[in-house]
Amino acid sequence: MATRQHYFSQPDTVEQVKNRLFKQLAYYCLGLHCLLLVLFWYCDITILAMVNVGSVIAWAVGIMLLYEHKSHLALRLFCVEVTLHSIFVCAVLGMGYGFQYYLWTIASLILLDYQLKLKIASALALLLILTFAALFELFGSVQDSFVLSHLAPYIHFINVLICALPSIYTIGHIREVTFSNRYQLAQLAAKDPLTSLFNRRYAKELIKNAQENCVNTSQQLTIVMADIDHFKGINDKYGHDIGDDVLIEVALKIKHHTLHSDIAVRWGGEEFLLVFVNCDLETAQARIESLRREIETHTFNADALQVTMSFGIAQWHPALPFRMAIKLADDALYISKTQGRNRTTSAPSKTVQST
Ligand code: GH3
Ligand code: MG
Ligand code: MG
Repeated sequence: MATRQHYFSQPDTVEQVKNRLFKQLAYYCLGLHCLLLVLFWYCDITILAMVNVGSVIAWAVGIMLLYEHKSHLALRLFCVEVTLHSIFVCAVLGMGYGFQYYLWTIASLILLDYQLKLKIASALALLLILTFAALFELFGSVQDSFVLSHLAPYIHFINVLICALPSIYTIGHIREVTFSNRYQLAQLAAKDPLTSLFNRRYAKELIKNAQENCVNTSQQLTIVMADIDHFKGINDKYGHDIGDDVLIEVALKIKHHTLHSDIAVRWGGEEFLLVFVNCDLETAQARIESLRREIETHTFNADALQVTMSFGIAQWHPALPFRMAIKLADDALYISKTQGRNRTTSAPSKTVQST
């Protein structure tokens, strides 16, 4: 039985992506503060070890808030923690270790608090950068009595790296999400959500391009109108959901019978338009016959449902307006219907196959 798996999945919401990113970031920072806690404890700088205990608690609470989907509260907590922590460590150790750079990282992340207006988030970010600059004035001359002061250049280097990673990771990730959301939205605008064939509006653009290509390359373009027979009866007898399943399965069969260069469109309810590019009438007839037979012999749905389809084929050439070609295919389809359905007719009225 066909399922609804052909419906498009909705793009991730910004909140979902943000929550995921912040969780990764928060675990990264929690681990970092645990390491710093051990380091300061080992170096006997009790005051900074205690500050790190506070930081570990703050990041753990933040992670809990993230699991409760309160990402804006978590972000604000992280901002306060990082700001106070940076200022405090710079006041104690001076500026040689690079703890001031965390203010840059948090300045870029605060812009992701969408509950703050952009102006306020930008002002806060600017304030953090100004604090960064002020730290050099305030604590630039602090005497460094840290037991590992000979390692200052290395710790500085590591801090620069640690600060850069969250910014690069977050902005890079948001860039990817933006692209993938744009792609998914383009797909949503181009395709029919039930069958994932092209929708009528988008197909018109594709067809226009295919026509131009055909004119430039002197290729043949054949169009087919296809319609499920007695579909109303299927809905009436089995229900609308089973009717939808039949549409999904028919669309799958159509996709299997079309090439990459062809255009398969859900033209209306149970009506489909196929545009075969670089395909002459005889080839199109053979391909449609194969599709028609496959549908005729396929067992749809668990209820052993049999479905048939009627087809009308017409060839487009540059002297013919495309809507006229569609009308010819539609007229041919009408003939298939009036002559008993489950058959293929080519325009103007040549029946090529009947059962
Ligand atoms: P014919 O052989 O002459 O084409 O008969 P038909 O019953 O297929 O055609 P008719 O135009 O009388 O009925 C088409 C039906 O298709 C009516 C409409 O409710 C149904 N339909 C249109 N879109 C959908 C859809 O998305 N899902 C389902 N389940 N039914 C749909
Ligand atoms: Mg029909
Ligand atoms: Mg119809």
